[in-house]
Amino acid sequence: METDTVIVGNGPSAMILSYILHGHIPFYSRNPPHPDALLDAKLTEAPNLLNADVGALTAHFAASRLSYSTQALPVNVLLDTLVRPSLDVDVSDCASNVEWRHMPEKAIPHLIFGNAPRPGGQWTEDPHGASWDIQTLSYAAMLSLPGYSFADHHRAVTGADLPPFTRPTRREIADYFEAYPAAVKIEDVFRDGEDVKGISRTDTGFYIKSHNLHCKRLVLASGIFSEILPPPAMLQPVLQTSSTPTMPLLVVGSGFSAADAIISAPAHQKILHVFRWSPGDRPSPLRGCHQHAYPEYAGVYRLMKRAALASRTEKKSQQPNARRGSSMPFLEYRQWDDIYEGLSNVEIVDVAMEGPAAEVTFRHENGSTFKRLVQGLVYAAGRRGTLAYLESELRTEVLDHDEANNDLAISGQTLRARALEDLQIAPDVYIIGSLTGDSLVRFAYGGCVVTAGRLIEHRDGDRGSRSPCSSAVSTRPPSSSLQAMNGMDGHHVYPVAEAGLTREDTLLSKVSTIPAPTNVQSWWKTVVHMWKDLTR
Ligand SMILES: Cc1cc2nc3c(=O)[nH]c(=O)nc-3n(C[C@H](O)[C@H](O)[C@H](O)COP(=O)(O)OP(=O)(O)OC[C@H]3O[C@@H](n4cnc5c(N)ncnc54)[C@H](O)[C@@H]3O)c2cc1C
Repeated sequence: METDTVIVGNGPSAMILSYILHGHIPFYSRNPPHPDALLDAKLTEAPNLLNADVGALTAHFAASRLSYSTQALPVNVLLDTLVRPSLDVDVSDCASNVEWRHMPEKAIPHLIFGNAPRPGGQWTEDPHGASWDIQTLSYAAMLSLPGYSFADHHRAVTGADLPPFTRPTRREIADYFEAYPAAVKIEDVFRDGEDVKGISRTDTGFYIKSHNLHCKRLVLASGIFSEILPPPAMLQPVLQTSSTPTMPLLVVGSGFSAADAIISAPAHQKILHVFRWSPGDRPSPLRGCHQHAYPEYAGVYRLMKRAALASRTEKKSQQPNARRGSSMPFLEYRQWDDIYEGLSNVEIVDVAMEGPAAEVTFRHENGSTFKRLVQGLVYAAGRRGTLAYLESELRTEVLDHDEANNDLAISGQTLRARALEDLQIAPDVYIIGSLTGDSLVRFAYGGCVVTAGRLIEHRDGDRGSRSPCSSAVSTRPPSSSLQAMNGMDGHHVYPVAEAGLTREDTLLSKVSTIPAPTNVQSWWKTVVHMWKDLTR
Protein backbone atom coordinates (compact mmCIF):
# COMPACT_ATOMS: atom_id res chain seq x y z
CA MET A 1 0.00 0.00 0.00
CA GLU A 2 1.15 3.53 -0.66
CA THR A 3 0.05 7.10 0.06
CA ASP A 4 1.64 10.50 -0.30
CA THR A 5 1.69 11.57 3.36
CA VAL A 6 1.25 9.75 6.65
CA ILE A 7 0.37 11.66 9.82
CA VAL A 8 1.20 9.91 13.11
CA GLY A 9 -1.27 10.90 15.85
CA ASN A 10 -4.99 11.74 15.65
CA GLY A 11 -5.07 14.78 17.93
CA PRO A 12 -6.22 18.32 17.13
CA SER A 13 -3.11 19.23 15.13
CA ALA A 14 -3.55 16.21 12.84
CA MET A 15 -7.17 17.25 12.29
CA ILE A 16 -6.24 20.84 11.38
CA LEU A 17 -3.58 19.62 8.95
CA SER A 18 -5.95 17.09 7.40
CA TYR A 19 -8.57 19.80 6.88
CA ILE A 20 -6.04 21.80 4.87
CA LEU A 21 -4.75 18.74 3.00
CA HIS A 22 -8.33 18.04 1.93
CA GLY A 23 -8.04 21.25 -0.08
CA HIS A 24 -9.22 23.94 2.35
CA ILE A 25 -6.72 26.71 1.73
CA PRO A 26 -6.46 29.63 4.19
CA PHE A 27 -6.64 33.15 2.79
CA TYR A 28 -6.58 36.47 4.59
CA SER A 29 -10.08 37.91 4.76
CA ARG A 30 -10.63 41.68 5.26
CA ASN A 31 -14.19 41.44 6.45
CA PRO A 32 -13.59 43.31 8.75
CA PRO A 33 -9.88 44.20 8.44
CA HIS A 34 -7.58 42.87 11.14
CA PRO A 35 -7.17 45.43 13.97
CA ASP A 36 -3.41 45.54 13.30
CA ALA A 37 -3.37 47.99 10.38
CA LEU A 38 0.19 47.12 9.41
CA LEU A 39 -0.57 43.42 9.28
CA ASP A 40 -3.74 44.17 7.34
CA ALA A 41 -1.75 46.16 4.77
CA LYS A 42 0.88 43.44 4.38
CA LEU A 43 -1.68 40.66 3.98
CA THR A 44 -3.91 42.60 1.59
CA GLU A 45 -0.95 42.51 -0.82
CA ALA A 46 -0.43 38.73 -0.42
CA PRO A 47 -3.52 37.06 1.08
CA ASN A 48 -2.63 33.38 0.50
CA LEU A 49 -1.52 32.24 3.95
CA LEU A 50 0.02 29.00 2.69
CA ASN A 51 2.72 31.12 1.12
CA ALA A 52 2.98 33.63 3.94
CA ASP A 53 6.36 35.20 4.60
CA VAL A 54 6.19 34.77 8.35
CA GLY A 55 9.32 36.77 9.14
CA ALA A 56 8.11 39.82 7.21
CA LEU A 57 4.54 39.59 8.51
CA THR A 58 5.50 39.30 12.17
CA ALA A 59 8.54 41.60 12.23
CA HIS A 60 6.56 44.42 13.83
CA PHE A 61 4.77 42.28 16.43
CA ALA A 62 7.29 43.01 19.17
CA ALA A 63 6.61 46.73 18.92
CA SER A 64 2.88 46.48 18.34
CA ARG A 65 0.31 47.88 20.76
CA LEU A 66 -1.63 44.64 20.31
CA SER A 67 -1.00 41.78 22.70
CA TYR A 68 0.86 39.16 20.71
CA SER A 69 2.19 36.09 22.49
CA THR A 70 5.86 36.41 23.14
CA GLN A 71 6.67 32.74 23.47
CA ALA A 72 4.84 30.77 20.78
CA LEU A 73 6.43 30.18 17.39
CA PRO A 74 5.96 33.31 15.27
CA VAL A 75 3.95 31.43 12.66
CA ASN A 76 1.63 30.17 15.40
CA VAL A 77 1.21 33.68 16.78
CA LEU A 78 0.41 34.90 13.27
CA LEU A 79 -2.28 32.32 12.56
CA ASP A 80 -3.68 32.64 16.08
CA THR A 81 -4.27 36.36 15.69
CA LEU A 82 -5.78 35.89 12.23
CA VAL A 83 -8.09 33.04 13.20
CA ARG A 84 -9.23 34.79 16.42
CA PRO A 85 -8.49 38.51 15.99
CA SER A 86 -10.80 39.71 18.76
CA LEU A 87 -10.22 36.97 21.24
CA ASP A 88 -9.96 39.37 24.15
CA VAL A 89 -13.31 40.94 23.33
CA ASP A 90 -15.65 38.07 22.56
CA VAL A 91 -14.41 34.54 22.55
CA SER A 92 -17.51 32.62 21.57
CA ASP A 93 -17.75 33.05 17.81
CA CYS A 94 -15.66 36.07 16.83
CA ALA A 95 -15.28 37.11 13.20
CA SER A 96 -12.19 35.49 11.77
CA ASN A 97 -9.68 37.02 9.39
CA VAL A 98 -9.12 33.64 7.77
CA GLU A 99 -11.29 32.39 4.96
CA TRP A 100 -10.90 28.68 4.16
CA ARG A 101 -11.40 28.40 0.38
CA HIS A 102 -12.17 24.95 -0.91
CA MET A 103 -9.71 24.19 -3.70
CA PRO A 104 -9.92 20.42 -4.25
CA GLU A 105 -7.12 20.52 -6.79
CA LYS A 106 -4.75 21.36 -3.94
CA ALA A 107 -5.67 18.24 -1.91
CA ILE A 108 -2.90 15.84 -0.93
CA PRO A 109 -3.59 12.12 -0.42
CA HIS A 110 -2.84 11.27 3.19
CA LEU A 111 -3.70 8.97 6.07
CA ILE A 112 -3.91 9.66 9.80
CA PHE A 113 -2.96 6.89 12.23
CA GLY A 114 -3.76 7.41 15.90
CA ASN A 115 -3.72 4.96 18.76
CA ALA A 116 -6.48 6.93 20.46
CA PRO A 117 -9.74 5.06 19.84
CA ARG A 118 -11.45 8.16 18.48
CA PRO A 119 -10.24 11.36 16.77
CA GLY A 120 -9.00 13.75 19.47
CA GLY A 121 -5.63 12.39 20.59
CA GLN A 122 -4.96 12.97 24.27
CA TRP A 123 -8.49 14.38 24.69
CA THR A 124 -9.88 10.84 24.46
CA GLU A 125 -7.86 9.72 27.49
CA ASP A 126 -8.17 10.19 31.23
CA PRO A 127 -5.08 8.53 32.68
CA HIS A 128 -5.39 9.96 36.19
CA GLY A 129 -9.08 9.16 36.55
CA ALA A 130 -10.11 12.82 36.81
CA SER A 131 -13.70 13.79 36.22
CA TRP A 132 -14.75 14.23 32.58
CA ASP A 133 -16.80 17.18 33.76
CA ILE A 134 -13.76 19.24 34.69
CA GLN A 135 -13.68 22.39 32.61
CA THR A 136 -10.93 22.90 30.05
CA LEU A 137 -8.25 25.48 30.66
CA SER A 138 -9.06 27.18 27.37
CA TYR A 139 -12.19 28.93 26.33
CA ALA A 140 -14.16 27.14 23.61
CA ALA A 141 -12.95 29.40 20.79
CA MET A 142 -9.35 28.55 21.59
CA LEU A 143 -10.09 24.85 21.15
CA SER A 144 -12.05 25.26 17.93
CA LEU A 145 -10.84 23.68 14.70
CA PRO A 146 -11.29 25.18 11.21
CA GLY A 147 -14.56 24.79 9.33
CA TYR A 148 -16.65 23.63 12.29
CA SER A 149 -16.13 25.48 15.56
CA PHE A 150 -17.09 24.31 19.01
CA ALA A 151 -19.84 26.96 18.86
CA ASP A 152 -21.14 25.32 15.63
CA HIS A 153 -21.06 21.95 17.35
CA HIS A 154 -22.82 23.29 20.42
CA ARG A 155 -25.54 24.77 18.20
CA ALA A 156 -25.88 21.51 16.27
CA VAL A 157 -26.16 19.43 19.43
CA THR A 158 -28.23 21.69 21.69
CA GLY A 159 -29.95 24.05 19.26
CA ALA A 160 -28.75 26.97 21.38
CA ASP A 161 -26.03 29.57 20.91
CA LEU A 162 -22.89 29.10 22.97
CA PRO A 163 -22.68 31.69 25.74
CA PRO A 164 -19.58 33.89 25.52
CA PHE A 165 -16.55 32.94 27.60
CA THR A 166 -17.58 29.28 27.90
CA ARG A 167 -15.02 26.85 29.22
CA PRO A 168 -16.44 23.53 28.02
CA THR A 169 -15.93 20.32 29.94
CA ARG A 170 -13.32 17.80 28.81
CA ARG A 171 -16.17 15.49 27.81
CA GLU A 172 -17.73 18.17 25.60
CA ILE A 173 -14.43 18.82 23.84
CA ALA A 174 -13.77 15.09 23.41
CA ASP A 175 -17.25 14.75 21.85
CA TYR A 176 -16.59 17.77 19.62
CA PHE A 177 -13.26 16.39 18.37
CA GLU A 178 -14.90 13.03 17.74
CA ALA A 179 -17.65 14.67 15.67
CA TYR A 180 -15.29 17.01 13.79
CA PRO A 181 -13.98 14.75 10.98
CA ALA A 182 -17.48 13.82 9.79
CA ALA A 183 -18.71 17.41 10.16
CA VAL A 184 -16.02 18.74 7.78
CA LYS A 185 -15.96 15.56 5.64
CA ILE A 186 -12.41 14.45 6.32
CA GLU A 187 -13.26 11.18 8.07
CA ASP A 188 -12.07 9.08 5.10
CA VAL A 189 -8.42 9.39 6.19
CA PHE A 190 -8.76 8.53 9.88
CA ARG A 191 -7.38 5.19 11.09
CA ASP A 192 -8.21 5.41 14.80
CA GLY A 193 -7.13 2.92 17.43
CA GLU A 194 -4.08 1.98 15.36
CA ASP A 195 -0.57 2.11 16.73
CA VAL A 196 2.13 2.91 14.19
CA LYS A 197 5.49 1.18 14.68
CA GLY A 198 8.77 0.68 12.90
CA ILE A 199 9.01 3.64 10.53
CA SER A 200 12.21 3.72 8.49
CA ARG A 201 13.54 5.80 5.62
CA THR A 202 13.71 4.28 2.15
CA ASP A 203 15.11 5.57 -1.14
CA THR A 204 11.73 6.96 -2.14
CA GLY A 205 10.31 8.03 1.22
CA PHE A 206 9.35 5.95 4.26
CA TYR A 207 8.25 2.42 5.08
CA ILE A 208 5.81 1.78 7.95
CA LYS A 209 6.38 -1.77 9.09
CA SER A 210 3.29 -2.08 11.32
CA HIS A 211 1.02 -1.36 8.37
CA ASN A 212 3.19 -2.53 5.46
CA LEU A 213 2.71 0.94 4.03
CA HIS A 214 4.93 3.26 1.97
CA CYS A 215 4.67 7.05 1.95
CA LYS A 216 6.64 9.91 0.53
CA ARG A 217 6.31 12.33 3.45
CA LEU A 218 5.88 11.90 7.16
CA VAL A 219 4.22 14.24 9.65
CA LEU A 220 4.78 13.59 13.35
CA ALA A 221 1.74 14.72 15.36
CA SER A 222 2.17 12.24 18.19
CA GLY A 223 2.20 14.87 20.95
CA ILE A 224 4.01 15.07 24.26
CA PHE A 225 1.41 13.47 26.53
CA SER A 226 1.22 9.81 25.48
CA GLU A 227 3.55 8.47 28.21
CA ILE A 228 2.73 8.96 31.88
CA LEU A 229 5.76 9.21 34.13
CA PRO A 230 5.40 6.14 36.35
CA PRO A 231 5.74 6.30 40.12
CA PRO A 232 9.15 5.20 41.36
CA ALA A 233 9.45 1.59 42.54
CA MET A 234 9.09 2.57 46.19
CA LEU A 235 5.56 3.84 45.57
CA GLN A 236 4.40 0.87 43.48
CA PRO A 237 2.79 -0.94 46.47
CA VAL A 238 0.60 2.12 47.13
CA LEU A 239 -0.80 1.74 43.62
CA GLN A 240 -2.22 -1.62 44.66
CA THR A 241 -4.27 -0.09 47.50
CA SER A 242 -7.84 1.07 46.86
CA SER A 243 -8.93 4.51 47.92
CA THR A 244 -11.63 4.91 50.52
CA PRO A 245 -13.00 8.26 51.78
CA THR A 246 -11.91 7.81 55.38
CA MET A 247 -8.25 7.15 54.57
CA PRO A 248 -6.12 9.78 52.85
CA LEU A 249 -5.65 9.37 49.11
CA LEU A 250 -2.00 10.14 48.30
CA VAL A 251 -1.78 12.73 45.51
CA VAL A 252 1.73 13.54 44.26
CA GLY A 253 2.29 16.54 42.00
CA SER A 254 1.83 20.28 41.86
CA GLY A 255 0.38 20.76 38.40
CA PHE A 256 -3.04 20.60 36.84
CA SER A 257 -3.40 16.82 36.88
CA ALA A 258 -2.80 16.69 40.64
CA ALA A 259 -5.30 19.53 41.04
CA ASP A 260 -7.77 17.67 38.80
CA ALA A 261 -7.47 14.61 41.04
CA ILE A 262 -8.18 16.70 44.13
CA ILE A 263 -11.11 18.49 42.51
CA SER A 264 -12.55 15.21 41.18
CA ALA A 265 -12.30 13.31 44.47
CA PRO A 266 -15.55 12.59 46.33
CA ALA A 267 -16.53 15.47 48.62
CA HIS A 268 -15.55 13.65 51.83
CA GLN A 269 -12.41 11.99 50.48
CA LYS A 270 -9.40 12.65 52.70
CA ILE A 271 -6.41 13.81 50.69
CA LEU A 272 -2.69 13.81 51.46
CA HIS A 273 -1.14 16.08 48.86
CA VAL A 274 2.63 15.95 48.37
CA PHE A 275 4.02 18.71 46.20
CA ARG A 276 7.08 20.71 45.42
CA TRP A 277 6.88 24.33 46.59
CA SER A 278 9.42 26.71 45.16
CA PRO A 279 7.59 29.85 44.07
CA GLY A 280 10.79 31.81 43.48
CA ASP A 281 12.38 29.64 40.85
CA ARG A 282 9.80 27.06 39.90
CA PRO A 283 6.25 28.07 40.71
CA SER A 284 3.38 25.66 40.27
CA PRO A 285 1.57 26.24 36.97
CA LEU A 286 -1.54 26.72 39.10
CA ARG A 287 -0.16 30.06 40.22
CA GLY A 288 -1.22 31.56 36.88
CA CYS A 289 -4.88 30.79 37.58
CA HIS A 290 -6.97 33.79 38.45
CA GLN A 291 -9.65 32.96 40.99
CA HIS A 292 -12.46 34.37 38.84
CA ALA A 293 -11.49 32.55 35.65
CA TYR A 294 -10.24 29.32 37.26
CA PRO A 295 -11.73 29.21 40.78
CA GLU A 296 -11.07 25.51 41.33
CA TYR A 297 -7.39 25.64 40.34
CA ALA A 298 -6.87 28.91 42.22
CA GLY A 299 -8.51 27.22 45.21
CA VAL A 300 -6.15 24.24 45.14
CA TYR A 301 -3.22 26.63 44.76
CA ARG A 302 -4.42 28.51 47.84
CA LEU A 303 -4.59 25.25 49.81
CA MET A 304 -1.05 24.40 48.72
CA LYS A 305 0.24 27.85 49.57
CA ARG A 306 -1.26 27.76 53.02
CA ALA A 307 0.17 24.32 53.70
CA ALA A 308 3.61 25.42 52.49
CA LEU A 309 3.55 28.60 54.58
CA ALA A 310 2.30 26.71 57.63
CA SER A 311 5.15 24.23 57.40
CA ARG A 312 7.71 27.02 56.88
CA THR A 313 6.60 28.97 59.90
CA GLU A 314 6.70 25.68 61.83
CA LYS A 315 3.12 25.97 62.92
CA LYS A 316 2.09 23.10 65.12
CA SER A 317 -0.50 21.82 62.72
CA GLN A 318 0.39 21.50 59.07
CA GLN A 319 -3.24 21.57 58.09
CA PRO A 320 -4.16 24.88 56.52
CA ASN A 321 -7.24 26.66 57.74
CA ALA A 322 -9.02 26.74 54.42
CA ARG A 323 -12.02 28.71 55.56
CA ARG A 324 -10.47 31.40 57.74
CA GLY A 325 -10.37 34.70 55.86
CA SER A 326 -11.22 33.01 52.60
CA SER A 327 -13.15 34.89 49.96
CA MET A 328 -13.07 31.90 47.61
CA PRO A 329 -16.34 30.00 47.15
CA PHE A 330 -14.34 26.93 46.05
CA LEU A 331 -12.82 26.75 49.53
CA GLU A 332 -16.24 26.92 51.14
CA TYR A 333 -17.86 23.94 49.50
CA ARG A 334 -15.84 21.24 51.27
CA GLN A 335 -14.52 20.90 54.80
CA TRP A 336 -10.96 21.29 53.56
CA ASP A 337 -9.61 21.65 57.11
CA ASP A 338 -10.78 18.14 57.81
CA ILE A 339 -9.98 16.43 54.53
CA TYR A 340 -6.89 18.10 53.03
CA GLU A 341 -3.33 17.89 54.28
CA GLY A 342 -0.62 19.44 52.13
CA LEU A 343 3.02 18.40 52.47
CA SER A 344 5.46 20.61 50.62
CA ASN A 345 9.08 19.75 49.86
CA VAL A 346 9.20 16.41 51.61
CA GLU A 347 10.92 13.23 50.54
CA ILE A 348 9.24 9.82 50.70
CA VAL A 349 11.80 7.50 52.24
CA ASP A 350 9.85 4.33 53.00
CA VAL A 351 6.59 2.55 52.27
CA ALA A 352 5.31 -0.38 54.33
CA MET A 353 2.02 -2.22 53.87
CA GLU A 354 -0.41 -2.17 56.81
CA GLY A 355 -3.37 -4.35 55.84
CA PRO A 356 -5.36 -2.59 53.11
CA ALA A 357 -3.38 0.63 53.67
CA ALA A 358 0.21 1.73 53.10
CA GLU A 359 2.28 3.46 55.76
CA VAL A 360 4.43 6.09 54.10
CA THR A 361 7.45 7.62 55.83
CA PHE A 362 8.28 11.20 54.87
CA ARG A 363 11.42 13.22 55.56
CA HIS A 364 11.42 17.01 55.96
CA GLU A 365 14.21 19.19 54.61
CA ASN A 366 15.61 19.39 58.17
CA GLY A 367 15.95 15.60 58.27
CA SER A 368 13.08 14.85 60.68
CA THR A 369 10.74 12.05 59.64
CA PHE A 370 7.05 11.30 60.14
CA LYS A 371 4.54 8.70 58.92
CA ARG A 372 1.06 8.70 57.40
CA LEU A 373 -1.32 5.91 56.47
CA VAL A 374 -2.75 6.23 52.96
CA GLN A 375 -4.95 4.27 50.57
CA GLY A 376 -4.86 4.94 46.84
CA LEU A 377 -2.32 6.92 44.81
CA VAL A 378 -2.52 9.53 42.08
CA TYR A 379 1.01 10.11 40.80
CA ALA A 380 0.73 13.16 38.59
CA ALA A 381 4.35 14.11 38.05
CA GLY A 382 4.14 14.71 34.33
CA ARG A 383 3.63 13.22 30.92
CA ARG A 384 5.90 12.90 27.91
CA GLY A 385 5.75 11.82 24.29
CA THR A 386 7.90 9.25 22.56
CA LEU A 387 9.37 8.74 19.11
CA ALA A 388 9.94 5.03 19.74
CA TYR A 389 7.78 4.34 16.70
CA LEU A 390 10.65 5.55 14.49
CA GLU A 391 13.39 3.00 13.77
CA SER A 392 16.56 4.04 15.53
CA GLU A 393 18.33 5.42 12.44
CA LEU A 394 15.43 7.69 11.55
CA ARG A 395 14.95 8.64 15.21
CA THR A 396 18.58 9.65 15.47
CA GLU A 397 18.18 11.73 12.33
CA VAL A 398 15.08 13.42 13.73
CA LEU A 399 16.52 14.05 17.18
CA ASP A 400 19.78 15.16 15.60
CA HIS A 401 22.02 13.49 18.12
CA ASP A 402 23.69 10.23 18.85
CA GLU A 403 21.55 7.20 19.64
CA ALA A 404 23.76 6.75 22.72
CA ASN A 405 22.23 9.92 24.19
CA ASN A 406 18.90 9.20 22.67
CA ASP A 407 16.37 9.81 25.39
CA LEU A 408 13.06 8.41 24.19
CA ALA A 409 11.01 10.69 26.45
CA ILE A 410 9.95 13.73 24.46
CA SER A 411 8.94 16.95 26.19
CA GLY A 412 7.89 20.23 24.65
CA GLN A 413 11.52 21.29 24.79
CA THR A 414 13.05 18.31 23.00
CA LEU A 415 12.40 19.56 19.48
CA ARG A 416 11.79 23.22 20.28
CA ALA A 417 15.09 24.56 18.97
CA ARG A 418 14.64 22.60 15.76
CA ALA A 419 11.06 23.85 15.42
CA LEU A 420 12.25 27.43 15.72
CA GLU A 421 14.51 26.82 12.75
CA ASP A 422 12.19 24.75 10.59
CA LEU A 423 9.23 22.42 11.13
CA GLN A 424 10.77 20.11 8.55
CA ILE A 425 13.17 18.59 11.04
CA ALA A 426 14.67 16.07 8.62
CA PRO A 427 14.19 15.67 4.87
CA ASP A 428 10.45 15.11 4.31
CA VAL A 429 9.77 14.72 8.06
CA TYR A 430 7.64 17.44 9.67
CA ILE A 431 6.45 18.08 13.22
CA ILE A 432 3.19 19.75 14.22
CA GLY A 433 1.16 20.30 17.40
CA SER A 434 2.56 19.96 20.88
CA LEU A 435 5.70 18.21 19.60
CA THR A 436 6.84 21.64 18.40
CA GLY A 437 6.75 22.94 21.97
CA ASP A 438 3.54 24.97 21.50
CA SER A 439 1.09 22.71 23.28
CA LEU A 440 -2.14 24.74 23.10
CA VAL A 441 -4.62 23.98 20.33
CA ARG A 442 -4.86 27.68 19.43
CA PHE A 443 -1.15 27.61 18.58
CA ALA A 444 -1.36 24.48 16.42
CA TYR A 445 -2.75 26.30 13.38
CA GLY A 446 0.46 28.00 12.25
CA GLY A 447 2.57 24.87 12.13
CA CYS A 448 -0.17 23.05 10.24
CA VAL A 449 -0.49 25.84 7.66
CA VAL A 450 3.27 25.97 7.08
CA THR A 451 3.53 22.19 6.84
CA ALA A 452 0.57 21.93 4.47
CA GLY A 453 2.10 24.71 2.37
CA ARG A 454 5.32 22.73 2.07
CA LEU A 455 3.58 19.47 1.23
CA ILE A 456 1.44 21.10 -1.45
CA GLU A 457 4.35 23.09 -2.83
CA HIS A 458 6.47 19.95 -2.98
CA ARG A 459 3.76 18.01 -4.79
CA ASP A 460 3.26 20.88 -7.22
CA GLY A 461 7.01 20.82 -7.87
CA ASP A 462 7.36 24.45 -6.84
CA ARG A 463 9.97 24.37 -4.14
CA GLY A 464 10.19 28.18 -4.41
CA SER A 465 12.32 30.35 -2.22
CA ARG A 466 10.11 30.47 0.83
CA SER A 467 12.07 30.61 4.04
CA PRO A 468 11.61 28.05 6.78
CA CYS A 469 8.97 28.82 9.37
CA SER A 470 11.39 30.49 11.69
CA SER A 471 11.96 33.94 12.99
CA ALA A 472 13.23 35.32 16.23
CA VAL A 473 10.96 34.96 19.21
CA SER A 474 9.56 38.29 20.24
CA THR A 475 10.88 39.84 23.41
CA ARG A 476 7.91 42.06 24.08
CA PRO A 477 6.67 41.78 27.67
CA PRO A 478 3.46 39.81 28.08
CA SER A 479 0.21 41.74 27.90
CA SER A 480 -2.05 41.66 30.87
CA SER A 481 -5.07 40.64 28.80
CA LEU A 482 -3.70 37.18 28.15
CA GLN A 483 -2.19 36.58 31.55
CA ALA A 484 -4.69 33.91 32.45
CA MET A 485 -3.60 31.67 29.62
CA ASN A 486 0.06 32.52 29.90
CA GLY A 487 0.51 30.41 32.96
CA MET A 488 -1.42 27.50 31.50
CA ASP A 489 0.91 26.38 28.84
CA GLY A 490 4.17 27.09 30.56
CA HIS A 491 4.56 30.40 28.80
CA HIS A 492 5.93 33.14 31.03
CA VAL A 493 5.76 31.09 34.18
CA TYR A 494 9.00 29.25 33.60
CA PRO A 495 12.20 30.18 31.86
CA VAL A 496 12.10 29.07 28.24
CA ALA A 497 14.42 26.15 28.96
CA GLU A 498 11.74 24.60 31.09
CA ALA A 499 8.67 25.37 29.06
CA GLY A 500 8.39 21.69 28.17
CA LEU A 501 7.03 20.93 31.59
CA THR A 502 3.70 22.39 30.80
CA ARG A 503 0.83 21.13 32.86
CA GLU A 504 2.72 19.32 35.59
CA ASP A 505 5.80 20.70 37.19
CA THR A 506 6.79 18.12 39.74
CA LEU A 507 9.35 15.92 38.13
CA LEU A 508 10.42 13.87 41.08
CA SER A 509 13.89 12.48 41.26
CA LYS A 510 13.53 9.89 43.98
CA VAL A 511 10.20 10.50 45.60
CA SER A 512 11.11 13.91 46.75
CA THR A 513 9.70 17.35 46.36
CA ILE A 514 12.61 19.00 48.18
CA PRO A 515 14.06 21.64 45.88
CA ALA A 516 17.80 21.47 45.28
CA PRO A 517 19.64 24.54 46.61
CA THR A 518 20.85 25.49 43.15
CA ASN A 519 19.72 27.94 40.51
CA VAL A 520 17.02 27.00 38.04
CA GLN A 521 19.28 26.07 35.17
CA SER A 522 21.47 23.74 37.16
CA TRP A 523 18.40 22.34 38.91
CA TRP A 524 16.96 21.57 35.52
CA LYS A 525 20.18 19.88 34.41
CA THR A 526 20.10 17.78 37.56
CA VAL A 527 16.51 16.77 36.92
CA VAL A 528 17.22 15.90 33.29
CA HIS A 529 20.17 13.82 34.44
CA MET A 530 18.08 12.01 37.03
CA TRP A 531 15.27 11.50 34.58
CA LYS A 532 17.73 9.88 32.17
CA ASP A 533 18.89 7.61 34.98
CA LEU A 534 15.32 6.65 35.75
CA THR A 535 14.35 5.90 32.17
CA ARG A 536 17.56 4.14 31.17
C1 LIG B 1 -4.91 16.96 30.66
C2 LIG B 1 -4.61 17.97 29.59
C3 LIG B 1 -5.42 19.10 29.45
C4 LIG B 1 -5.16 20.02 28.45
N1 LIG B 1 -5.95 21.13 28.35
C5 LIG B 1 -5.76 21.99 27.32
C6 LIG B 1 -6.62 23.12 27.11
O1 LIG B 1 -7.54 23.40 27.88
N2 LIG B 1 -6.40 23.91 26.03
C7 LIG B 1 -5.41 23.65 25.13
O2 LIG B 1 -5.30 24.37 24.14
N3 LIG B 1 -4.57 22.61 25.32
C8 LIG B 1 -4.70 21.79 26.38
N4 LIG B 1 -3.85 20.73 26.55
C9 LIG B 1 -2.67 20.63 25.65
C10 LIG B 1 -2.75 19.60 24.50
O3 LIG B 1 -1.44 19.50 24.07
C11 LIG B 1 -3.53 20.06 23.31
O4 LIG B 1 -4.87 20.32 23.67
C12 LIG B 1 -3.61 19.07 22.13
O5 LIG B 1 -4.17 17.84 22.55
C13 LIG B 1 -2.31 18.82 21.42
O6 LIG B 1 -2.64 18.17 20.23
P1 LIG B 1 -1.62 17.30 19.38
O7 LIG B 1 -2.25 17.16 18.06
O8 LIG B 1 -0.26 17.88 19.44
O9 LIG B 1 -1.49 15.88 20.09
P2 LIG B 1 -2.27 15.01 21.13
O10 LIG B 1 -3.63 15.53 21.44
O11 LIG B 1 -1.34 14.81 22.25
O12 LIG B 1 -2.50 13.65 20.31
C14 LIG B 1 -1.45 12.85 19.84
C15 LIG B 1 -1.95 11.43 19.78
O13 LIG B 1 -1.00 10.64 19.05
C16 LIG B 1 -0.94 9.38 19.66
N5 LIG B 1 0.26 8.64 19.27
C17 LIG B 1 1.51 8.76 19.77
N6 LIG B 1 2.32 7.87 19.18
C18 LIG B 1 1.58 7.17 18.30
C19 LIG B 1 1.85 6.09 17.41
N7 LIG B 1 3.07 5.57 17.30
N8 LIG B 1 0.85 5.59 16.67
C20 LIG B 1 -0.40 6.09 16.76
N9 LIG B 1 -0.71 7.13 17.58
C21 LIG B 1 0.26 7.65 18.34
C22 LIG B 1 -0.98 9.73 21.13
O14 LIG B 1 -1.26 8.60 21.94
C23 LIG B 1 -2.08 10.77 21.16
O15 LIG B 1 -3.34 10.16 21.29
C24 LIG B 1 -4.06 19.82 27.58
C25 LIG B 1 -3.23 18.70 27.74
C26 LIG B 1 -3.49 17.79 28.74
C27 LIG B 1 -2.58 16.61 28.91
